[in-house]
Amino acid sequence: MRVDDEQALRAHRQRFDRNGQLFSAPARVNLIGEHTDYTGGFVLPMAIDFRTAAVVSPREDGRAVFYSANFEEEASFEIASLGRARGEWSDYPAGVLWCLLQEGIDVGGFSLTLMGNVPLGAGLSSSASIEVATAMALLGHAGVTLPMEKIATLCRRAENEYVGAKSGIMDQFVVTGAVAHRAMLLDCRSLEFELLPLPEQERVVICNSMVKHDVAAGEYGDRSDEVEAGQAVLRRERKGIELLRDATLEDLEACRGKMTPESFARCRHIITENARVIAAREALLDGDMERFGKLMVEAHASMRDDFAASCAEVDTLVEIAMRQSGCFGARITGGGFGGCTVNVVSVEKTEQFVEAVRREYAAATGIEAQCFVCEPSDGAIALAAKVGAA
Ligand code: ADP
Ligand code: MG
Repeated sequence: MRVDDEQALRAHRQRFDRNGQLFSAPARVNLIGEHTDYTGGFVLPMAIDFRTAAVVSPREDGRAVFYSANFEEEASFEIASLGRARGEWSDYPAGVLWCLLQEGIDVGGFSLTLMGNVPLGAGLSSSASIEVATAMALLGHAGVTLPMEKIATLCRRAENEYVGAKSGIMDQFVVTGAVAHRAMLLDCRSLEFELLPLPEQERVVICNSMVKHDVAAGEYGDRSDEVEAGQAVLRRERKGIELLRDATLEDLEACRGKMTPESFARCRHIITENARVIAAREALLDGDMERFGKLMVEAHASMRDDFAASCAEVDTLVEIAMRQSGCFGARITGGGFGGCTVNVVSVEKTEQFVEAVRREYAAATGIEAQCFVCEPSDGAIALAAKVGAA
């Protein structure tokens, strides 16, 4: 599952006839805390051992040239006349360049090769992976160092404002700042975080349902509109509520008549989900994976029923997982409407789990799921420090 660094360096050399400098950023999986980040709540993701490598070398003609070795496609333009997003893959790295320029960072001409093994559009955040890898490479190229938090917020801005995708800070933050063998509890309002150990007797298994429903883009926007409408009512009606994360179920109940049933249900998901993330932290610290797993199952039900962001195939995948011995918990992960599930499984049952889930999911749906046993991995900063130290 490793991206081969040598392969990325070679791809760059072949394309541009120059040696480049290598940076990389992982993908991530969210253990619990879905759709809580953009209302200032809590999330508990970890970086995983899928990566995007970015290899950069300078150019004398003042151009920005992005080459995706995955797509074998190039996007090239004058840095001085960087235009708007074009609805292509290159919007992600171009958006990062756009943000760096806005920060007043002097990015001279460069060639940048991107090569990743993150499944695209599967809810593992290949988008944050390509953004952060690009940011690391362009900062390295410009000879500028920025704090971790700044890199993450800058990449989020690239995705929100340049690419035009609504998303919270979770993905870019964990992809930038994660540390191997640890999950990250992140307070999305203060950006304070805590690195939490994961037990050695369990593994995190990701199962890709291989479905992505077309509704995804539109409905993601609808959900966040419904959430914002509910949050606005709470802010107006109840004292001391700035973000949904400040609200209790009692606050929400008191405002029930003032919002649509959809807003009410979406807000209930977020309020209960924030509480589950805090409880999941306690469970992790106690090494109580039974309790952790139970919270994952509750989180899935809430995503399915209150947030209405699951789908039949993913529900089936979760049900199958929960029937297997050694599986503590399973839930949808990522934005929803398809994509992946995240599962916590005891080490000695992992192989058997993967085999049974694949077999039973194929029998139920006719679809071959892909399953990955993941390691909590380093974020882009820790990866760069290790390359530097090597
Ligand atoms: P996710 O983040 O869940 O994988 P997104 O739709 O947010 O899904 O981002 C996926 C998009 O990111 C891809 O469709 C592509 O445009 C871009 N992308 C990610 N990795 C690469 C890569 N190695 N080369 C080119 N484009 C990439
Ligand atoms: Mg994404």
